[in-house]
Amino acid sequence: MRPSATVIGAGLAGSEAAWQIARAGHAVRLVEMRPARSTPAHRTGHFAELVCSNSFKSDLESTPAGLLKREMRELGSLTLAVADRCRVPGGEALAVDREAFARGVTEALRGQPNVLLEEREATGDDVARWLGDGPVVVATGPLTSDGLAEWLATVTGSGRLFFFDAVSPTVTAESIDRSVAFAGSRYGKGGEDYLNCPFTKEEYEAFVAALLAAERAPLHDFEQGVRYFEGCLPIEEIASRGARSLAFGNFKPVGLTDPRTGRRPYAVLQLRPENADRTLYSLVACQTRLKWGEQARVFRLVPGLQNAEFVRFGVIHRNTYLHAPEVLGRTLRLKAWPTVRCAGQITGVEGYMESAATGLLAGLWTVLDLSGLEPAEPPADCVLGSLLAYLADQTERDFAPMNANWGLFPPLDPPIREKQARRAALAQRARAAFELWLQDVRTALRSAGAEL
Ligand SMILES: Cc1cc2nc3c(=O)[nH]c(=O)nc-3n(C[C@H](O)[C@H](O)[C@H](O)COP(=O)(O)OP(=O)(O)OC[C@H]3O[C@@H](n4cnc5c(N)ncnc54)[C@H](O)[C@@H]3O)c2cc1C
Repeated sequence: MRPSATVIGAGLAGSEAAWQIARAGHAVRLVEMRPARSTPAHRTGHFAELVCSNSFKSDLESTPAGLLKREMRELGSLTLAVADRCRVPGGEALAVDREAFARGVTEALRGQPNVLLEEREATGDDVARWLGDGPVVVATGPLTSDGLAEWLATVTGSGRLFFFDAVSPTVTAESIDRSVAFAGSRYGKGGEDYLNCPFTKEEYEAFVAALLAAERAPLHDFEQGVRYFEGCLPIEEIASRGARSLAFGNFKPVGLTDPRTGRRPYAVLQLRPENADRTLYSLVACQTRLKWGEQARVFRLVPGLQNAEFVRFGVIHRNTYLHAPEVLGRTLRLKAWPTVRCAGQITGVEGYMESAATGLLAGLWTVLDLSGLEPAEPPADCVLGSLLAYLADQTERDFAPMNANWGLFPPLDPPIREKQARRAALAQRARAAFELWLQDVRTALRSAGAEL
């Protein structure tokens, strides 16, 4: 049987993509390099191996993580069908028996006659050759093999493929205390883009002391001995160089006047918008290796962030991902090579479920491609659409991988101030937008001779 499409990588995203293509009746080549060649984090030869936690986060539809699962279940997700069978007690979270889960996904794909498995490491030359059979989905994950990563870097242009996350925490706009944090750029240049959290000397010293005493996350074996670039040193590392090193560096107050005092603060932590709607702000130059609980505790000592809601914590770890806003088109196609789609963590989403979700979409869109149909994009109001909108957002920023969260949804019009009521309204709007889009997907798939 000759394949009509190829999926590279049988992780969370690639397994979903291949499943969607195969169950629509198309032969799909699925290429996986494990077990012959493993990654530094995987331990088995199973598909969709969970390399760390066995939790897929909340399954409550009142949360973005739960809503994402609902959307994926409605689209016929293999990941969720298997996860639901392998559930272990996890409170409101969907936790799974990791061995049973990976085995379940592997058996489903190995038992699907349209899946043509090739156990080998794919290279750039392979991709070019396989394009002769039809569209290709690259889903090789955060630990993409060196050869393929080199090819991706060449195809997308230098500087558009990252090998490390050095990410600062991100908070929701609504949780920043605007009676303390003031808008403005240094010397008035750049308008009101930044929010500035002003420290007094005492506040600064208390923050630095807490930062230095806080517990750091352990390094994985394959990250031992990693040397940081000077430009993305962990903030705790810089703070340890001297009592005022942050005040002269990451938190320098020059060019900023606190409107409440009319004076220059002792130090300033700046916040930069993460999306065009300005519903999310990242803490500038606060990349860190502190444990997540510690980050919340320490950064809430920053004036203006005492009630901060963190949607993403800072990390510094190995992670191969593309600069999606520059490199990917709206349906995850490589702009430079549109018959190739990317899926999974490599697109700049983060997390098991978000990765599987982009694989699911890439699979469904490939099915439509194969019938010459235009892929329908999910609206930004639902969770899938909000993730894609984040990847496409052209706001100038240090693009960092992102998980599903409230801050990715477009603001409500009119706004609702009370948090629970606002979230209930966002969730309701997400469900309604998704249901409408789902009808379009069903119609399009039916035209392609497939069903959900
Ligand atoms: C150490 C570590 C811990 C993590 N912990 C968590 C966590 O606790 N929770 C969470 O939600 N997310 C976690 N993540 C992120 C997690 O990796 C992703 O959420 C998810 O696994 C990504 O799915 P993916 O399909 O993009 O990549 P993967 O699941 O990694 O799948 C990629 C597949 O491609 C294969 N491959 C790579 N290169 C080639 C090639 N050239 N040819 C053929 N096959 C290839 C790999 O063997 C792998 O099977 C962690 C990541 C790492 C690195």
